[in-house]
Amino acid sequence: MNLYEYQGKEIFARYGIPVPRGEVASSPEEARRIAEKLGTSVVLKAQVLAGGRGKAGGVKFASSPGEAESVAKELLSMKLKGFKVEKVLVEQKLSIRREIYAGITVDRAEGKPIFMVSGEGGVDIEEVAERSPEKIFTRYIDPFVGFYPYMARELASGLGLDSESFKKVSDVLLKLYRVFSEKDAQLAEINPLVIADEGVFAADAKIVIDEDALFRQDFEVKTRGLPYVELDGSIGCIVNGAGLAMSTMDTLKHLGGEPANFLDIGGGAGSDVMREALLKVAAHPKVRVIFINILGGITRCDEIARGILAARQGISPPLVVRFRGTNEEEGIALLRDAGIEVERDMIAAAKLAIEKSKEAAR
Ligand code: GDP
Ligand code: MN
Repeated sequence: MNLYEYQGKEIFARYGIPVPRGEVASSPEEARRIAEKLGTSVVLKAQVLAGGRGKAGGVKFASSPGEAESVAKELLSMKLKGFKVEKVLVEQKLSIRREIYAGITVDRAEGKPIFMVSGEGGVDIEEVAERSPEKIFTRYIDPFVGFYPYMARELASGLGLDSESFKKVSDVLLKLYRVFSEKDAQLAEINPLVIADEGVFAADAKIVIDEDALFRQDFEVKTRGLPYVELDGSIGCIVNGAGLAMSTMDTLKHLGGEPANFLDIGGGAGSDVMREALLKVAAHPKVRVIFINILGGITRCDEIARGILAARQGISPPLVVRFRGTNEEEGIALLRDAGIEVERDMIAAAKLAIEKSKEAAR
């Protein structure tokens, strides 16, 4: 599961990794208020789960709150790498002197975490690896031994930093490993880690959590009071209304499927509720498919469809959706356009979900 940059930075901050001052905005007005509060020039960054936003026009600057508002408006109407921009991170603009790369991932061949740093940050590390591999310094980490300050200093020593930045960067590397290890990450990356006039900061954050470990990483998957009961099956269920949620589980059972949970998202669930529901359900280690069963009344299927499209980034189990009721045509069209399987009939949808849960289990 990929985390958004702003979520990654929240985690960094909790671990003492310095991040630029800033907040996330969902509307141009909100961006304006954040820029006012910051009282500096700002950088506005589209929150999508794709790298290379800078090059694609997803990172922009503004020197006044008014400009921040108009830039945010532009970003919020953009599609980046196929994803609609729903949120924009508004941060103090730093005066950057140098950009460094720091990342930890799992080397599958070695079966160990590998720490990589480079003085050539800000660009794709793959690019550096191809062009000038000698500029990347690496170190394998034995997770049973851990990662110690002297190891961090050794890694940082190739970067050609002055002594003050060297200390700060080494400290960030140490804390980045703690994030990687304690959050069960497959990737924890800061690109760029910047040396700025204002200090050393993680200017970007990329964290990928191992989905098999999500069950013990509940920091991400709290539902806000939505009634949720965990079960033992492989079909995650997201349903509006408690009665329909019960009969969805019964139907799955009756047709030979095993529900993984009970979850009632209630009426009028927007993209935020849908995101939390998807994260919560996908976090169950046994879930192989997510069955979203919506009976439109006050709840409009097209609105739910938009919520699903906005919320499904980074969720890996396939989705099967059943829409019946208010605005079902619009809802179905929206999802089919995006390649998501959707049915009107509950039995047909349930059968499809069961089929998919079995396919994935093989
Ligand atoms: P990515 O392209 O998706 O990886 O987005 P990043 O967050 O890494 O930003 C891309 C680039 O924008 C960085 O490499 C920096 O060069 C630039 N950038 C980001 N934040 C700032 C800032 O506060 N000040 C300045 N001057 N440049 C920034
Ligand atoms: Mn980056």
